[in-house]
Amino acid sequence: MSTSDDTVRDTLLTTPIVGEWTLTKILSTEAPSLVKLWEDGMKEKVEYGGGIYIKDGGARPTVSSAKGNDDNINLERFRTAPQGSKILAEFHTHPGKQPKDGRPSDDDAKNHWDRTSKNAADKHVALVVTTTKEPAGGWGNRAAVKKKYAVIVWEDASKGVRIWAMPRLTAKPTFD
Ligand SMILES: [Zn+2]
Repeated sequence: MSTSDDTVRDTLLTTPIVGEWTLTKILSTEAPSLVKLWEDGMKEKVEYGGGIYIKDGGARPTVSSAKGNDDNINLERFRTAPQGSKILAEFHTHPGKQPKDGRPSDDDAKNHWDRTSKNAADKHVALVVTTTKEPAGGWGNRAAVKKKYAVIVWEDASKGVRIWAMPRLTAKPTFD
């Protein structure tokens, strides 16, 4: 059983970004960093998570991450950008130990709504890095909900990993 580790690790990317940030640009440079954390989490059976930040006027984002436990990571401290920086995205990985790890969990959607509803100026994206494996019976009656609160924005089939983005919601998500 792994224990959580409060150490925050920062990685300065070497690839500069040209022009305005978009989700596509974030993923074209950040996906390998997120996939590496997802791979570590799959081995260790824990979630990793953190934030992606960029300094005002800068072109190189920073990924800050920490290790959570087997089914949770507290992202609160990553939701405030360091002084002089903007937050582009927050993210967390799922370790693939149960069916819901193949998609964002209901709690992920609820937490995202609770947070964005309190902070309308906050434009950053919530990303969830998961296995491509879906539950044995498929998504079932969650399919409609899934479409409403999360979209697949990146996938590497050879590694069996995909990244979901949680859109800003106008109504609190409900689940049956
Ligand atoms: Zn989650």
